Amino acid sequence: MSLQHTMKKTVLMEGVGLHTGMPIKLEIRPAQDNFGIQFTRSDLTKAQPIRASYENVTNTRLATTLGTGKNFVSTVEHLMAALAGFGIDNAHILVGGPEVPIFDGSSAPFVEQIKRSGVETQQMNRPTLVITRRVELKIAEKWAYVEPSNQFEIHSTIEWDHPMVGFQELSYIEGKNSFDEIARARTFCFARDIESMKTLGLIRGGSLDCAVVLSETGCLNSDGLRYNDELVRHKVLDAIGDFKLAGLQIAGSFRLHRSGHDVHYQLLKAILKDRRNYEIVGADQATELPLMRLAASY
Ligand SMILES: [Zn+2]
Repeated sequence: MSLQHTMKKTVLMEGVGLHTGMPIKLEIRPAQDNFGIQFTRSDLTKAQPIRASYENVTNTRLATTLGTGKNFVSTVEHLMAALAGFGIDNAHILVGGPEVPIFDGSSAPFVEQIKRSGVETQQMNRPTLVITRRVELKIAEKWAYVEPSNQFEIHSTIEWDHPMVGFQELSYIEGKNSFDEIARARTFCFARDIESMKTLGLIRGGSLDCAVVLSETGCLNSDGLRYNDELVRHKVLDAIGDFKLAGLQIAGSFRLHRSGHDVHYQLLKAILKDRRNYEIVGADQATELPLMRLAASY
């Protein structure tokens, strides 16, 4: 049985938003037991906090977005992954704009700040969402499934006809593999897609400082890749961040092929819509998270 965790200290960061191109302030505050991860837009007056839950996902194109109307926060996945990597259950995140800053396109800047703050062990037990049977999903050439396991595992494969990609595979088992080796992997895109994304008003803050950009034959970044398999590592990173939107620690083994935010979200939804796919274990009696209310209503 493990206990819940939060940050030891508040952390302040500032960086450019990938899509708006604007400087955005970010504050990660410690929070009490059972608070979960919640985002508040500090640039809007009296904005309601948005719980980091799959139920609040409103867009999965290029990034994961939470919230509706004006009260939304986009590109939450790399920060969520860093929180997951350090086992942070409870944190209040204040964001001074519509997206979490992109920084270098990886989770490394968040990891650095979490390490600087330190992690605080809390009083209450940490409930776990235990996968009890296989759930699968297929969207065009992408597929994904989850099976029971006593730990959180991600096995990811990608396949692109590109000299720097080809077939790549990577397994991440929480507690066995170093999260740091995943955290440093940057997001990536193809140079040929950049113009169309800019035409759509996206990636105004995009540059070679915040992504790996692939040309038809190589990589435009002068320093090249951080790892030969940086792309599949980043796929694993995105998955860790997106699956944290379950709102609980997960025990299950995920297999993902060419997956993206849409696949992660749809798979999580498919798991959680049927109570026979999972059980929640290890919660204190006083603990009542939204997902547990849902589970109890079956
Ligand atoms: Zn990403």
